[in-house]
Amino acid sequence: MSLFQRTTIALARSPMMGRAMRAMAARSSLASRFVGGADVDAAVGTALRLREAHGIRASLFYLGEYVADPAAIEHNVTQSIAACEALGRAGLDVHVSVDPTAIGYMDSDARGEANARRIGAAVSRAAGGGQDWVVLDMEDSGIRDRTCGLHRGLLEAGLPAGLTLQARRRRTPEDLHWAIRQRTSLRLVKGAFPERELDHDGRARIDQAYLDAASIMLSPEARKAGFLPVFGTHDDRLAGAIMTMARERGWAPDGFEFEMLYGVRPDWQRALRGLGYNVRVYLPFGGDWWPYAIRRVGENPRNAWLLARSLGSD
Ligand code: FAD
Repeated sequence: MSLFQRTTIALARSPMMGRAMRAMAARSSLASRFVGGADVDAAVGTALRLREAHGIRASLFYLGEYVADPAAIEHNVTQSIAACEALGRAGLDVHVSVDPTAIGYMDSDARGEANARRIGAAVSRAAGGGQDWVVLDMEDSGIRDRTCGLHRGLLEAGLPAGLTLQARRRRTPEDLHWAIRQRTSLRLVKGAFPERELDHDGRARIDQAYLDAASIMLSPEARKAGFLPVFGTHDDRLAGAIMTMARERGWAPDGFEFEMLYGVRPDWQRALRGLGYNVRVYLPFGGDWWPYAIRRVGENPRNAWLLARSLGSD
């Protein structure tokens, strides 16, 4: 990990910076670039505009992670449930993403699982027959096994649950072989939590691991099972290789999805949609935007100018 990335991770974890930045959210260039709204109504408004103007779908994500306080956990859960209800009323996909550490896993596994079931049930209740899912984000390796176990438990309970897996982890193919036999949505990302002893080494190997995993996700078994492959990447080289692979194996362009972060490469998002592919954006909302937005700067130093503007007096 570069010194720049380490610095942005330290900034993301600084409570003092978080408090200061929340206070100035209204005028922050960083927040307005990467966050889709301060509350549920604003976020659903953004999702509606994206759908109507560009045919792009959204997954709403209430900002808040690594939370142990029961009141804060309950707030995160009720916001996700409110997002499901508002998406249903708006006639959009009832699609939300959640971090297990935001909904109870920092407190107890039983609380986390119970809350995930509440959100899954809210998706089912509001679902309108589109792509309606609660997708579990994948955080650091300390919670990986519990997140995979939670995903299985939700599916066994008949809830519409999806999972995120990280291509950088050497173990990912093992989990994929089980997942592709399920009726589930599986989002493949490169991975934002580097851990040297668990990961493929270097960018080229991670990219190759991404394509190897994509090949498993686009296998005939996956198609037979009604599995939904989701490729969470802004990397156009990888997307190009996946489009070719999918075409050669007979997948229709709308049989899988590309998913990108709100505010990142919007032109590329529209271009892919223009080619007939399903495109979704991961659309964060809420006031606790600082750790999320500063990680986007860590991923791409070119976003540092947004940070500079946010810290300045504009
Ligand atoms: P990169 O090689 O990093 O980037 C490809 C291209 O996109 C480059 O040209 C780069 O300049 C551009 N780009 C990438 N990021 C940015 C940015 N922030 N701003 C501007 N340009 C950028 N990680 C997890 O560990 N767990 C998760 O649950 C998780 N969920 C995710 C969900 C979605 C929908 C997405 C898109 C990502 C998620 N991530 C998650 C983050 C992911 O792991 C990567 O860190 C991130 O997507 C960058 O990798 P990339 O595939 O876009 O490739």
